[in-house]
Amino acid sequence: MHELSIAMQLVEQIVGVAEANQLPRVDEVELQTGVLRRVIPEMMQAAFKEATGNSIADGAVLKITDIPAKARCDQCALEFEPEADNFLCPECQVANVTVLEGNVIILKSVSCQADQS
Ligand SMILES: [Zn+2]
Repeated sequence: MHELSIAMQLVEQIVGVAEANQLPRVDEVELQTGVLRRVIPEMMQAAFKEATGNSIADGAVLKITDIPAKARCDQCALEFEPEADNFLCPECQVANVTVLEGNVIILKSVSCQADQS
């Protein structure tokens, strides 16, 4: 289950950001996942819950957005959106491409609601 290892790393990052910003706790986390990483949102939510237990982000809401994939053909320089398993250039029909986007996981934001009490 690779979501859990992603979530564990994520928690380390979140704790670091929270400490740097002196947040007493974390209520919301925004995550951007490249589609090529094949993160399954449901699995990620479960892994996040498990990984954040007993941390500053315990109970935080996780928002996940996709980053579409983008690749450039090394032969004709065409940029296109590849399918998960299909990196064939639509022009040359050759799988000789450089992945430009869609292969990253980005911690977009960590936030703490203003204390209501
Ligand atoms: Zn091409």
